[in-house]
Amino acid sequence: MKAPAKSSASSSRALSRAVAKKEEATALFALLEEHEHEQVSLVYEPSSGYRGIIAIHDTTLGPALGGTRFWNYASDRDALIDCLRLARGMTYKAAVAGLNLGGGKSVIIGDNKIRNREPIFRAHGRHVKALGGRYITAEDVGTSVSDMEFIKAETDHVTGLIGKSGDPSPVTAFGVYRGIKACARHHYGDDALKGKTVAIQGCGHVGYYLADLLYKEGAQLIATDIDAVKLKAVVDDFRAKPVGADEIYGVEANIFAPCALGGIINDETIPQLKVEIVAGGANNQLAEERHGDMLEEKGLTYAPDYVINAGGLVNVNAELEGWTMERARNKAGEIYDTILMVFEIAAEEGIPSYRAADRLAEKRIAAIAKVRQNFV
Ligand code: NAD
Repeated sequence: MKAPAKSSASSSRALSRAVAKKEEATALFALLEEHEHEQVSLVYEPSSGYRGIIAIHDTTLGPALGGTRFWNYASDRDALIDCLRLARGMTYKAAVAGLNLGGGKSVIIGDNKIRNREPIFRAHGRHVKALGGRYITAEDVGTSVSDMEFIKAETDHVTGLIGKSGDPSPVTAFGVYRGIKACARHHYGDDALKGKTVAIQGCGHVGYYLADLLYKEGAQLIATDIDAVKLKAVVDDFRAKPVGADEIYGVEANIFAPCALGGIINDETIPQLKVEIVAGGANNQLAEERHGDMLEEKGLTYAPDYVINAGGLVNVNAELEGWTMERARNKAGEIYDTILMVFEIAAEEGIPSYRAADRLAEKRIAAIAKVRQNFV
């Protein structure tokens, strides 16, 4: 029997479906093209239900290193976009930290509270292994050191393991401390923090160790945390003055050190700030890039977050090379000079510090790419 002839309306619907499908496919590659990501790998493993994405942004400087995030994304597209954005961030962070690492990240889509974790993380380990060392993973939101052990059963391209580099926050805090000193030198012409007042937001892992270092140097501390136990520890151990969570933005201090959440530098908080320096360990401090411009216009010295908090990455990188606390701290201590370099570029090029940090990363990547091209 002859197939019924298609009406012109149904054939035009089919055509527009085909166009939409093509556009969708092209849009996925457009996402990669936008920031020149090298590779994205998607794996579904039916028996465990594992759905993982690994994004490799740039491997000019070395294998792409970045943690595995386990998250229940609203859509697969959201997961891909988050993975691409985080992978790119890792390229910049490793480049400015002077590490021989590229940028990558992975996400596992699903409920991160799941009890039966081994099949999922073994599947992820095999996914990482399939990339042959182009990507090295570590812990991130929703994953733990024991999850890394499951990955380790399948591949050596994993770091942050039990009994190795361990909790990165003492090294992160040390890098933040050195970064704060560099900001003081830039702003006041002297890096001494004795007698300076530092307002710390978040007394968790990084905030506590940072408070310790600042207190030992003779800084006065103001602190806040939504967790009363964490706040009390900093108040009791380092004589910090406690304030409410919303009060921290308006306190009279020299330095504001955000060590809790991202997005805290925004339209509401900037007008409240009475400090001269913003420098802390939290990721993604600027709600939007324009808030970096606003800090600049207000005459504040801002330490770009991914430069000053690179100690955590320095710590896992040290594990790849044979971790010792001394080695990790030495490298994290270099954040002092890096922050000063960022301010130099900002002054030379007349740009805000957050843009100067990107410039520094891009310069290093371009320089090493050139050296590699010119020497066989
Ligand atoms: P953490 O969870 O140990 O500490 C965060 C603290 O912030 C907690 O005590 C929490 O109660 C507090 N907090 C949350 N919301 C708050 C609010 N609204 N006001 C005041 N306090 C609030 O985390 P952490 O490991 O110390 O990391 C802190 C920040 O530094 C995060 O942004 C993290 O991404 C970033 N960071 C951490 C490391 C590291 O080595 N741990 C490395 C790089 C970046």
